[in-house]
Amino acid sequence: MATSGNVIDQDPILSDIISICCEEVDELRKRVAALEAKLEGTSGVLCPLCHSPDFRIVASGPDPTFGEMGVLSDRYRCGNCQHEESRQRDTHR
Ligand SMILES: [Zn+2]
Repeated sequence: MATSGNVIDQDPILSDIISICCEEVDELRKRVAALEAKLEGTSGVLCPLCHSPDFRIVASGPDPTFGEMGVLSDRYRCGNCQHEESRQRDTHR
């Protein structure tokens, strides 16, 4: 049993496994970067139901309760599952 030195360099199977893992990590990094680039092109809001990035504002107006304080109520609709939701947006922020 080798107790000193680099075990990885001495073991061809282990170094093969590690090089395969490194390739997979590189591949995954590219996929993450591609997904991030895709998300940046959208509003950045994900549907709470199906997590599609196709969750967009379809209507916007003063909030019925806090409208006088500059709060807007945005109506979102998911282009994927058609889920609709209203969200408050404070224009002072
Ligand atoms: Zn959805």
